Amino acid sequence: MSTAPQPAPLPERPMPVPTRESQAYWDGLRDGKLMLQHCASCGKVRHYPRPVCPHCFSMESEFKAAPLTGKVHTWTVCHHPFNFFFKAQSPFIVALVDMDAGVRINAPLRGIAEGDLEIGQRVTLAFEPITKDITLPYFT
Ligand SMILES: [Zn+2]
Repeated sequence: MSTAPQPAPLPERPMPVPTRESQAYWDGLRDGKLMLQHCASCGKVRHYPRPVCPHCFSMESEFKAAPLTGKVHTWTVCHHPFNFFFKAQSPFIVALVDMDAGVRINAPLRGIAEGDLEIGQRVTLAFEPITKDITLPYFT
């Protein structure tokens, strides 16, 4: 029996829980697509997925694949996240991106140093499989 100290277990990653409204979005990420919700009545796109159109209050919607590109609206560097999983990864950048499809999406941004970032910079959504059902988006 070993008495050597064991390394501390990695903190558990908080995971999204797909809902009836968001399942198509998560399925899309798993399949390498950005599926955005469009109102079946007025046609406007919205994100995050939700049951009622904020423009016309229709409850009918459909998901369509959207381009993965957009431009940086703003970003923040997370130095002191409260969650231990993210604290172990800090510092990291989270970007808020104006997608070419007309919605804003926030996600981690990787591969670009903070000093090289600019408002309006073109970025692309990428996919990080976490489990067999959950793939998380990030920008690069
Ligand atoms: Zn609508």
